Order: sequence, then C-alpha cells, then structure tokens
Amino acid sequence: MSPVLQFSAVSRVHGSGPTEVHALRAVDLEIQEGEMVAVMGPSGSGKSTLLHLAGGLDTPTSGAVRVVGEDMGSMGLQERAALRRRHVGYVFQDFNLIPALTALENVMLPLELDGTATREARVAGLAALEEVGLENLGGRFPDDMSGGQAQRVAIARALVGPRRLVLADEPTGALDSVTGEAVMRTLRARVESGAAGLLVTHDARHAAWADRTVFLRDGVVVDSTGSAAGPETLLGVQA
Ligand code: ADP
Ligand code: MG
Repeated sequence: MSPVLQFSAVSRVHGSGPTEVHALRAVDLEIQEGEMVAVMGPSGSGKSTLLHLAGGLDTPTSGAVRVVGEDMGSMGLQERAALRRRHVGYVFQDFNLIPALTALENVMLPLELDGTATREARVAGLAALEEVGLENLGGRFPDDMSGGQAQRVAIARALVGPRRLVLADEPTGALDSVTGEAVMRTLRARVESGAAGLLVTHDARHAAWADRTVFLRDGVVVDSTGSAAGPETLLGVQA
C-alpha cells in the first residue's frame, strides 16, 4: 500500500542569488492512511512551505511530492488542481473563507467545484458542519461569526466529503483551549476513519494527538519522535 503523502528528497528554494532562501532541504516524509503527523519548529523553519507543497499549492525545486501515489510534479496545473479538490482538505492559517458565501456554501464549495451535485454537496456540507458542532449556523455569513466559529467553518470545509489527506496550518490558533481540543478530536477522528493528517502546531498538547512529531529547523528535519502521550491516551482508549 502506498502512503497517502510521500516526500522524497524535497527541497524548495525561494528566489535566487543573494536573496535565495532554502525553505526546505532534502526532506523525506511519508504519511500512511490512519496516521497523523505534527510539524513543529520555529518561525521561518519551513512549516508552511511543507504544507503548501503537500497540498500542491507550490512545487519543489527538486525532489518529488506524491499524493495518493501520484507525482504532482509530473502533472499539469489542471490535473493537480483536480487532485487537490478531490483528495486534499486544507485549513489555512488565515481561514480563507469567502465572505459572500454562507458557512454552508463555503463548506460545500470544494465539492461543487469538483462537480458534485448541489443536493449531494449540501448533505455532505451539513454533515461536515455537524462534525465541528456548527450545524445550526450554516446560514450565517463569515463576517457575522466569531473568530473561533469561522475557524471551525474552515475546518469543516477541509473535512467535507471523502478527503484522503487533511492539511492544517495551526488550525487551533484563534481558538480557546477547550474548542482547540475539540478541533483536535475532530481531526483525529477523521484520521481514524482512514485519512492521513499533517498538522502544523506550536502547542505540544495538540501535537500529542499525532502519531509522530517532525521537528523542522532551517528547512531540515532535525528530529522525529512518537508522541509522548500518544493519541490513544487522549481518546481515553486503553492500549
Ligand atoms: P514557517 O511556516 O515555519 O514560519 P515558511 O515555510 O513560511 O516558514 O518559510 C520558510 C522560509 O522561506 C522563511 O525564511 C521565509 O521567509 C521563506 N519564504 C517563504 N515563502 C517565501 C516566498 N514566497 N518568497 C521568498 N521567501 C519565502
Ligand atoms: Mg507558517
């Protein structure tokens, strides 16, 4: 079985000459179905670059990124966009909700862009809003929501439909700790049901929900560990 996400010697250089920045250097990483990996590291260490590459929003300078076994570097723009819409859920650091669309319409959007019938997208959208506890706010516009509610809508949009890979860049940033834990529980549950997850976080308590934590410094993976607590402990499951 091939991993859902595979980085093989991935490097990303921004700019050239004296302004050149090595955002990632020869990163190898594999995430299987049912597995969640946390990424930690100081500001500027390459965490967002890693997520952008995993989501096909950026391309490596060298090396290969494969999602569900497909090398995104060998795809055209359209093909890559289709793979992303079908398989990848992305929670951006700044939510990226569309203000002119209601919460439910925002959540339905990835499915509709991919050609799912409106009725079916609606049912899936409501289910995703329910997963984040917002089933009653589907008709509300992002500007009429609290930061925490908007963030949960962004998470619902990343989880809608059968996502194989869920990427989240500090998804708990604007949330209080109770809501933050609830979000982690939601992401973990989705991974348990067969997705692969990659999550950037500054919070060790949130990283504890992952199976492994990868530490980045200056674009290099400097360490990789299993979680101290382990997700089973947090879910209350006896090992
Ligand atoms: P993190 O998310 O860990 O803070 P980033 O992946 O955003 O780190 O950035 C890694 C490095 O790459 C930083 O030095 C950053 O300034 C640089 N960088 C990121 N994106 C760009 C870009 N589009 N152009 C030039 N430099 C960039
Ligand atoms: Mg970042």
